[in-house]
Amino acid sequence: MAGHKRHHDGKIAGLYDLDKTLGRGHFAVVKLARHVFTGEKVAVKVIDKTKLDPVARGHLFQEVRCMKMVQHPNVVRLYEVIDTATKLYLILELGDGGDMYDCIMKHEGGLTEEVAKCYFAQIVHAISYCHRLHVVHRDLKPENVVFFEKQGVVKLTDFGFSNRFQPGKKLNTSCGSLAYSAPEILLGDEYDAPAVDIWSLGVILFMLVCGQPPFQEANDSETLTMIMDCKYTVPPHISRACIDLIGHMLQRDPKKRATLEQIESHQWLQGVDPSPATKLSTPLVSHRSLSEEEHGSIIQRMVLGGIADRDAITEAQPATPSAATPPLIFPQPLLFCFHFSDVTT
Ligand code: ATP
Repeated sequence: MAGHKRHHDGKIAGLYDLDKTLGRGHFAVVKLARHVFTGEKVAVKVIDKTKLDPVARGHLFQEVRCMKMVQHPNVVRLYEVIDTATKLYLILELGDGGDMYDCIMKHEGGLTEEVAKCYFAQIVHAISYCHRLHVVHRDLKPENVVFFEKQGVVKLTDFGFSNRFQPGKKLNTSCGSLAYSAPEILLGDEYDAPAVDIWSLGVILFMLVCGQPPFQEANDSETLTMIMDCKYTVPPHISRACIDLIGHMLQRDPKKRATLEQIESHQWLQGVDPSPATKLSTPLVSHRSLSEEEHGSIIQRMVLGGIADRDAITEAQPATPSAATPPLIFPQPLLFCFHFSDVTT
């Protein structure tokens, strides 16, 4: 690893040149970056590990674990994880069109139902896939939906509060943002994992078509009361079918809340292509197996390029998938986790 003791201004481990900031969250800053060798643009989520308490560290671990697992055309791909003494870098597929919150804020009174339908169907498609893998997102909100304009799709990101669940078994960690959180989460009760995502989907759909959150009062305690009473007002221009769908998701009682199957088959969503992205290939990923010779040549080029020494590169490669590997998870030649001891950004 001697070649990596050098400091590179604005570079991560000598691999990515960092550019402007794309967004900020509570725990991270997301930056545009470019791969030094290939020029490929990516989004890099930079997490300062020194600022994390043990709980936040646990969430970070879950974020990486769940994002590695979920590979879907409407979920932002995690390409690579770079771990240093103080920072963790998540190298992500780059969204080129901003996030959905900004888009909603630019449309006073909301987007047209036709456009909202197209975006919403894709989010539902992504969540449906996650739940089938028994992954619950728990922080669904428009800020966590990113536009991919060139691909003409939206993708879900920020799995920082995600977790695995066992169907029928309840979870008890309280997480998410007040305005999007289901009543049972706010009560601190044990909750059925998939139902909390459905509630947040209801909030997202409301925001898409109305241009503002359903529960947003002068202060948090009033907002909380409105959520608990499930009281919201839908503007008159919203269609009956759309109001009906929102009403089935924003149900106070999680047992009465719509399931994903019911949402997907709801009248309002009929005739929409839920996944235009499936026709596109995902960049930077190859499922082709490499010959020994090609493999050797790539490692040679990585060593010459100063990425790491031969031992570190071969150690960092993902293990061969076992028979127990779920069918949707492929070995990923580019998804390594590198550990660098001394790098700067
Ligand atoms: P939170 O405080 O909500 O948990 P966070 O710290 O986990 O946020 P993210 O939500 O992952 O951070 O990212 C913050 C913002 O960065 C997003 O709202 C979005 O605007 C932008 N962003 C995130 N991922 C991407 C991406 N892959 N491409 C483009 N922009 C992105």
